[in-house]
Amino acid sequence: MQALKGRTALVTGAARGIGRAIALRLAQDGASVAVNYATSVEGAEALVSEIRGAGGRAVAVQADVGDVTQVDALFAHVEAHLGPVGVLVNNAGLHRGGRVERLAPADFEAVLRASLVGSFLCTARAVPQMKDHGWGRIVQISSPAALRGFAGDAAYGAAKAGQLGMTRCLAVELAPHGITVNAVLPGYVPTEMTSGLSDKSRTAIETSIPCGRAADPGEIAAAVSYLARSEAGYVTGVTLPVDGGIVL
Ligand code: NAP
Repeated sequence: MQALKGRTALVTGAARGIGRAIALRLAQDGASVAVNYATSVEGAEALVSEIRGAGGRAVAVQADVGDVTQVDALFAHVEAHLGPVGVLVNNAGLHRGGRVERLAPADFEAVLRASLVGSFLCTARAVPQMKDHGWGRIVQISSPAALRGFAGDAAYGAAKAGQLGMTRCLAVELAPHGITVNAVLPGYVPTEMTSGLSDKSRTAIETSIPCGRAADPGEIAAAVSYLARSEAGYVTGVTLPVDGGIVL
């Protein structure tokens, strides 16, 4: 049975990487899927074709999730084409690092805008209709950097830890409305975000993971798929690492 049949899911930053795997998985679960992208138009359109080719419903929608006007237009487009959003996955994110004295304030702000402000703006826009329906699922894609310190990652760690604080507050606030809010923390996943790592760093990360390997994006998507289902309605406010044990 397709557990998300009849639901509309919006995945931010879904044209590539982890977001792409999540969007595909939710489509396989039967959801109509809005594929948000900021710049990767070809990737977004290819993913929509793939979902439609498999018999699903999908649209690609460009928007910078850190901009309130664009977020409003994004939701209006999704509502017009697929109906109100019942499953929101705040996946969009940006990594810019550097030792604190060399971290440009503009980079710090950009990282917070993509992950944290974007999560807030999309959630605030989605919630009124979720409340109307008495059902909603919000999943934040955070990171082990929210729980552990990594040198050079002050901006990213702040953004990802902020998502966890938001998750817990919103879980309490929205539980009476049938809306769950949870956070998934992917471990090391080879994507464009991590493509700048040297071979040495990559090997060092992989050997520090108790499971001894990187994650497949599909493993992150499987956790999101579970949290999006009706049967997960009693799970809210959790921080779920899918990281091979890296935070232990
Ligand atoms: P990625 O390949 O770099 O993808 C990032 C996505 O975010 C892209 O699709 C990008 O869209 C989108 N994005 C960035 N800024 C945006 C904005 N302002 N508005 C809308 N979309 C925006 O990275 P990834 O590895 O798949 O990461 C996905 C999420 O997982 C991120 O939140 C990341 O922090 C988190 N994460 C990743 C890892 C890992 O090891 N890869 C580990 C822990 C957590 P465009 O391509 O359209 O520009």
